[in-house]
Amino acid sequence: MNKSPISDNPKLIVIEAQCWKCKQPMKVAVMDCGSPFLQHRRPDEFTKDELLFAATKGVSIKLHYSATADYEYLANSCTHCDAFVGDHYLFTDYIQPADMGDLQSTSYEMEAKDY
Ligand SMILES: [Zn+2]
Repeated sequence: MNKSPISDNPKLIVIEAQCWKCKQPMKVAVMDCGSPFLQHRRPDEFTKDELLFAATKGVSIKLHYSATADYEYLANSCTHCDAFVGDHYLFTDYIQPADMGDLQSTSYEMEAKDY
């Protein structure tokens, strides 16, 4: 049986982007679920550990209120002006360009934790 060299552990992807509002550098985080398909989890679907891990990488994830959807959810936020990346734009404006190499991104494998 061949063991895939690619780990199935979820990875934190940190995309080096630019704030759409103030144009300052902004880090955008998503979780790569390690499936063969292009599947990501949004910050709203992060576990507590994943949120803490993202914070150590300089990503700001905050609770925002969506007027269109009428509920609060966690989203990547700009550390300069507090603008946030809505779910709608996360894939088209950040994940997709990062996958195509237009935006630089770093992936961090989540370490197994015992606590
Ligand atoms: Zn900003």
